[in-house]
Amino acid sequence: TKKKLIAGNWKMNGSLAANDALVRAIAKGLGDAACQVAVCVPAPYLAQVQMLRAGCALELGAQDVSQHAEGAYTGEVSAAMLREFGVRFAIVGHSERRQYHGESDALVADKAKAALACGITPIVCVGETLAEREAGRTEEVVKRQLAAVIHANGHCISEIVVAYEPVWAIGTGRTATPDQAQQVHAVLRAQLKAATPHADRVHILYGGSMNAANAASLLACADIDGGLVGGASLKAADFLQIIAAAR
Ligand code: 13P
Repeated sequence: TKKKLIAGNWKMNGSLAANDALVRAIAKGLGDAACQVAVCVPAPYLAQVQMLRAGCALELGAQDVSQHAEGAYTGEVSAAMLREFGVRFAIVGHSERRQYHGESDALVADKAKAALACGITPIVCVGETLAEREAGRTEEVVKRQLAAVIHANGHCISEIVVAYEPVWAIGTGRTATPDQAQQVHAVLRAQLKAATPHADRVHILYGGSMNAANAASLLACADIDGGLVGGASLKAADFLQIIAAAR
């Protein structure tokens, strides 16, 4: 069976000083973790964190990537640029980008494709809003979001990571129960299975108020292969406890 993956998403947090302390503490506590570990950091700090992680098992991730390879796209960062800084993962389609930057399913699919073309693993986020869940539309929404990425990426689809992040659980302290999460993860796994014979290789992460107290029960579910951790990834002790729960 594959190792679990715990990825921190720092969002728009950090400073040179805070990152230095955080990454050193994570590296120190990491030891020989049973799982893969990554931190997805703001673009200006990629070089700093690349240096800080030298010699340790911590992988580097970005929080977004352009769908374009290069050119007149002011403010954008390409996958090839990320690759130069040792970036292994790029989050695409985070709900905050879908909500605040109007990212569509098709755009997210193109971003995943651009990442894969440069050897970067896209962490494709899907998830329903509270209104969608209450309307009984959870499955329909996550399947529509993932279908766009499958359609655009064909047989490469086994190279992606999926993150199920119910919007109502993000930053709210209201976590999906293990049963709620597993139910959606199973739907996503089945959808991947219909698209590739290698669906079991794909990590499907849970994200949304994952913390030291609830990580173990979520990570025990059959189709939960790791976590995408926001707030709790900003405190070394909490993040290390989640990592310890992933075995
Ligand atoms: P929180 O862990 O802060 O709820 O954030 C989850 C998330 O959005 C990770 O990408």
